[in-house]
Amino acid sequence: MRDDWSRDRLMNTVQRPEQLFVRGQGSWLWDADGRSYLDFTQGWAVNSLGHSPVALVRALQRQASQLINPGPAYYNSGMLELAARLCQATGSDQAYFLNSGAEANEGAIKLARKWGQLHKGGAYRMVTAANSFHGRTFGAMSASGKPAFQALYEPKVPGFTKVPYNDLAALDAALDDDVVALMLEPVQGEAGVLPAELDYLQGAERLCRERGILLILDEVQTGIGRCGSLLAEELYGVRADVITLGKGLGGGVPLAALLARGNACCFEPGEQGGTYHGNALMTAAGLAVLDTVLEPGLLEQVRATGQQLRDGLARVGRRFGAGVPRGHGLLLGLPLAEHNAAQVARAALGEGLLINAPQPGVLRFSPALTVSPGNIEEMLRRLHRALERARRPAQEVV
Ligand code: PLP
Repeated sequence: MRDDWSRDRLMNTVQRPEQLFVRGQGSWLWDADGRSYLDFTQGWAVNSLGHSPVALVRALQRQASQLINPGPAYYNSGMLELAARLCQATGSDQAYFLNSGAEANEGAIKLARKWGQLHKGGAYRMVTAANSFHGRTFGAMSASGKPAFQALYEPKVPGFTKVPYNDLAALDAALDDDVVALMLEPVQGEAGVLPAELDYLQGAERLCRERGILLILDEVQTGIGRCGSLLAEELYGVRADVITLGKGLGGGVPLAALLARGNACCFEPGEQGGTYHGNALMTAAGLAVLDTVLEPGLLEQVRATGQQLRDGLARVGRRFGAGVPRGHGLLLGLPLAEHNAAQVARAALGEGLLINAPQPGVLRFSPALTVSPGNIEEMLRRLHRALERARRPAQEVV
């Protein structure tokens, strides 16, 4: 690292390893010393097509030379085309574009409160799940059930009730007349890749319909092919009123979307906005990603490589007493028994492998949707070595 670059000039918000990454291609990253790393985090499931994919680079280059951002108060062709394509592909009626998953969830909260004024006598309370993660803006943090958030930055935005995940009886009891919306992740990623049970999500949808409550699905992590279908809701046979997307939609650049169906499309001029919202550059990136994900065979490939990864994780995990891999498609978690997951992730870095530990006992794998079978096998070999290395005394791990 250059002498005039000090880590102390960066606000101390996260502990980072020493590596300085300078280049990425597909499933691989290189640091400033020329060392290569197999990347099975992909920026926490952001780089859906891997690092610097040709389709995304070309779209950004072409668009940057033509028009970057005329401003949100004017049309650009990228925003119109991406809205049309996303609505058509997901069976939604309207779309709105933003910069991050948290912002999309803020938008969903606003949309629900507006809908509550129009259709539910001003009800504004929302039910969300314990251990859920919806982002780090104030509304999204307040909606989140992440335990570490509960004491941070009090007081939070009022109006959120948390219920245990995958517990239909608790949900039934919480959805009273004051409630305008239920917001859930189809898979709780940050909580350790915990998928909703089929009966739970279908039951949640039924309860929402019976009680006239909006169902909002936070598909920021699960959407855009990550789970082997364009949206995870398709796997469950449910249909939300509002869906939030982020992460994989931009393929690595800041792009998120709010999708709405039926009378949930209720924003009027002046009620939502942002200077970068729907800009031509990011929507061009979104179109390149969506085109690629919808190419014939890509989602089938995700399901096949997802199965290969799941089988491989089960095989390697068994040798170390690990539990059964869980998740959908290429969003998988491996529950550990004998290891601390953060320690394994550190040991993996020493093996040239990037994986992440959302919980102390769980490893998360979110490779590029285009990851090759060969790279999965190579990852499993490195993971095996990392699990062995992480069993040794702490000072030998890194
Ligand atoms: N919702 C879910 C389910 C997420 O996993 C995340 C990020 O991890 C977010 C929202 C927040 O997205 P962002 O970090 O882009 O604000």
